[in-house]
Amino acid sequence: MRKPKVTVVGSINMDLVVSASRMPEKGETLMGDDFHTYPGGKGANQAVAATRAGADVTLIGAVGVDSFGQELMTHLEKQKVNMSLVTRKKDVPTGIATIILAENDNRIIVTPGANHSLTPEDIKKQEETIRNSDIVLFQLETPVEVVIKAAELAHQAGVKTILNPAPFQPIPEELFETIKYFTPNETEVKELTSGGMDGRLQKKLIVTMGEQGVSYTQDEQSKHVAAYKVNAIDTTGAGDTFNGSLAAKLASGSELNEAIDFANASAALSVEKAGAQNGMPEKEEVEKYLQ
Ligand code: ATP
Repeated sequence: MRKPKVTVVGSINMDLVVSASRMPEKGETLMGDDFHTYPGGKGANQAVAATRAGADVTLIGAVGVDSFGQELMTHLEKQKVNMSLVTRKKDVPTGIATIILAENDNRIIVTPGANHSLTPEDIKKQEETIRNSDIVLFQLETPVEVVIKAAELAHQAGVKTILNPAPFQPIPEELFETIKYFTPNETEVKELTSGGMDGRLQKKLIVTMGEQGVSYTQDEQSKHVAAYKVNAIDTTGAGDTFNGSLAAKLASGSELNEAIDFANASAALSVEKAGAQNGMPEKEEVEKYLQ
């Protein structure tokens, strides 16, 4: 049987995580306790989630010609994500997130690097892949012009699109036409609707609410599904797991409510394990859990 085809247009980052006993003061050099690197970026995370959920996933994105870029390419290929359309950009570094963990708190600086050098022209070259997808999935860690271009190509070809509007930024008008589903979390939905609820938006919203579950509209009716009760260890990447799983399930032809139930269960299972990509379950595991 042919696998559903999901194309993710999104970011690829290396997360550099330092833990220390406390945050450094201004101008202070502090000795840290631990250092780890983890593959991340919302685009890459969602691509891995969709692959584990059973889709044939192609990632469109960019990394630099540097060691992090090489490491991420190798890692994502191992996760069975098709990386052949990822551009290696000269003169820009691979995107990184610098994360300091201390005193049960975190401070993060994201340097987008190559992710921000992706252009609508890069997208135009991948028109055929976009048109031949069952679903195209976006976030906002790549330039919004790139999202606009790819969503337009998908929409013209009748391909469904999902935008996870994170990190939040104002949504350009044209995306209200070309995006089929928006998947904000509770904070993002407040920003998305701060100027009033756009009539076109209401029926396209799928709002993730952490341990409260998911709210959405189907056939003009508001629906809410509770989250599955699990032993939450690490909720990092729960949103990414939800989005990747939702895309894979919709791409396979499932109805919206069925796809949301699958993604809700997949994201719940992911928070039972530490790490973003590490916790993402395989399709069979989710199906067994749902039985
Ligand atoms: P993050 O930024 O941490 O990746 P997010 O804010 O984008 O997450 P959330 O709304 O917190 O996304 O979570 C996404 C989905 O994950 C929820 O709708 C739910 O299905 C699942 N989820 C998150 N936290 C829990 C939890 N504690 N128990 C069960 N399911 C959870």
